[in-house]
Amino acid sequence: IQVGRTGVLTPVARLAPVTVGGVVVCRATLHNEDYIADKNIREGDTVIIQRAGDVIPQVVEVVMEKRGKDAKKFEFPDTCPECGSHALRETGEAARRCSAGLICPAQRLERLKHFVSRNAFDIEGLGARHMEDFRRDGLISSPADIFRLEEKAEEIKNLEGWGGKSAENLFKAIGARRAISLERFIYALGIRRVGRATARLLAGNYGSSKKWLAAMAAVAKKDSAAYGELTDIDGIGPGVADDLAAFFTETHNTDVVADLGRLLSIEDFADADIPDSPVAGKTVVFTGALEAMSRAEAKARAESLGVRVAGSVSKKTDYVVAGAHPGSKARKARQLGIAILSEDDWRRLAWD
Ligand SMILES: [Zn+2]
Repeated sequence: IQVGRTGVLTPVARLAPVTVGGVVVCRATLHNEDYIADKNIREGDTVIIQRAGDVIPQVVEVVMEKRGKDAKKFEFPDTCPECGSHALRETGEAARRCSAGLICPAQRLERLKHFVSRNAFDIEGLGARHMEDFRRDGLISSPADIFRLEEKAEEIKNLEGWGGKSAENLFKAIGARRAISLERFIYALGIRRVGRATARLLAGNYGSSKKWLAAMAAVAKKDSAAYGELTDIDGIGPGVADDLAAFFTETHNTDVVADLGRLLSIEDFADADIPDSPVAGKTVVFTGALEAMSRAEAKARAESLGVRVAGSVSKKTDYVVAGAHPGSKARKARQLGIAILSEDDWRRLAWD
């Protein structure tokens, strides 16, 4: 059982080594406890595995003829194998999770690895392996400690595999990342269900770390206006909003964020791709049946012009683009005095 960054317990099969496509494979994922039950996979089974690209191979099927008479069913643990805390399964979810959060050493380490990963801080010369070593040696316990590593220069220079030169290079690479884009920063925090696309969406909508953090603090305090604003962002559902709220409710998370805030300069969101468009920066709501293009196409087109597409009408809406049978959103726009445009009006205004 492997424990991931957000506490998910993932069962992994240990296999007798076998060569698949020129690579020796000795582990394969079993996904989750339902998968093991559905495929009726037992300890000691002979299995068929599949490998695709760089991802960890998966167990596809059991070869029943080769099953031993006394093959044991696998008892999925209900405690975390790393820290012993309860591992709970929420209704509607396939995954069982360690409930300990950052108290769990496995989650802590995975969070640190995620923090320095390629799409997060991406610090040259500081990979997952180094995070494991530094953590073990007590040099790093929270992401912010990375930016204090230079204070421990003498210790690092004396570690095996490190010397004066490589340590200097590491400090230089860390220094280069003290300025970081808002979207990378959000992604690096490793909040459940906040991947790259969601991080970018949040960065684009809030613009600065100050605004984003103020909004998240309000969301965590169950401020319904802030929560409403968050879920109004097209692409942010209640699931993600709740995960954000849960993250910012925990003081061990907000402490880390505040600590990082003191050490870093988080750059305001700048969308280099925004063209010089008359509608860039405007907030638009689509409603009714569009004729010229599908809703998804309209949204993608608008976003490519730097437009924020919202799911519901509020005082912050600049335009409502109404297709056939517009309904309540157009009514609300009329009440608030927001411009309602036809598809043609919108096309002429935005890009024609
Ligand atoms: Zn745990």
